[in-house]
Amino acid sequence: MSFKMHLLTGRTVAVILLVLLLLGVLYSYIWRHYRDGIFGQEVRPADGSSRVDFTIVNHWFHLVASDYLEYQQPSIVQGRTDVVTVTPWLAPIVWEGTYNPQLLDSIYRPQNISIAATVFAVGKYTKFLRDFLETAEQHFFVGFKVHVYVFTDRPKEVHQVKMAAGRQLTVVPVPGSNRWQEISARRMELIQTLIEEKLQNHMDYIFCLDVDSKFHGRWGTESLGALVAVIHPGYYKDDRSKFPYERRHESTAYVAPGKGDFYYCGGAFGGLLQEVHRLANTCRTNFEADAKKGIEAAWQEESHLNRYMLINKPTKVLSPEYLWQDFKPRNPEVRIIRFSGVIKNYADIRPNV
Ligand code: UDP
Ligand code: MN
Repeated sequence: MSFKMHLLTGRTVAVILLVLLLLGVLYSYIWRHYRDGIFGQEVRPADGSSRVDFTIVNHWFHLVASDYLEYQQPSIVQGRTDVVTVTPWLAPIVWEGTYNPQLLDSIYRPQNISIAATVFAVGKYTKFLRDFLETAEQHFFVGFKVHVYVFTDRPKEVHQVKMAAGRQLTVVPVPGSNRWQEISARRMELIQTLIEEKLQNHMDYIFCLDVDSKFHGRWGTESLGALVAVIHPGYYKDDRSKFPYERRHESTAYVAPGKGDFYYCGGAFGGLLQEVHRLANTCRTNFEADAKKGIEAAWQEESHLNRYMLINKPTKVLSPEYLWQDFKPRNPEVRIIRFSGVIKNYADIRPNV
């Protein structure tokens, strides 16, 4: 073999190796993106505290609209001026008139999303179930896959509601209690367990709702977000010093005076499974830590939820349209009441007062 040939072969081999190397890098780069795009990205909590792995469903971050849908031109200079529609951390605050329901539904419908809803009816609270379930059929994510989980100690009293195709109900038996505070507080633990054992990798979103309420108007895709909180109808015009946060230092739900964004409802919250799992896990752990010290936060899990949301900002905030109270006259900025707590006689329905 001549010296020239030798040089040529050496150079060719070097070029081939370089090309192979480049192809390798390119392949792993493309594969990683392809895999993340198709299968979602695996996330493990940094603290390793949780037993579950979730798959981030990337579709939520990618909004595809139909080319054929015609809708009103959006404006950036005209819109609602009587209410604030964005938080200081730039999460939307959902009010009637700030979104186009047809456009939103047309984006989410092809994604085939599924929504779990939890509702607790322990003791005499089963009497609220019928109205809750029937009105949910009329207004809650109509046309979408919905799975309602009813937690109750009286499964026989769960009313059979005719549900549309793609919607179903599961009854989860739970023990009764002679303290309403315990029933209310235990919800977080049961929600956490439900997500771990039944929902992960089957559902996309979850909403946790009070049973003593009825739907009166649309609650749909506009409410979707990673972590979703509802502003309490009782305090939304008040200074934060008046919010009924837990004010004792010893409690893990403590919020210092001069702190707080909004006062959120314990009766409605939701979001992506992994976000709600983290919330439920944290609130339950904190609730238990308090219990060990003999402390029960002022408004049980609502206090813990408010502490959580102060630190972990909700990515979407729902206006009080999403949880009004029947006894409150409607304020002018509330153009529609979508979900509202019914008037109830606590002495009649709670196991203790
Ligand atoms: N709850 C229940 N049985 C009880 C007390 C409470 O099932 O004896 C559940 C029920 O889902 C209820 C929620 O806990 O909607 C919160 O309690 P409640 O609605 O009485 O609190 P409020 O909305 O009046 O603050
Ligand atoms: Mn309630």
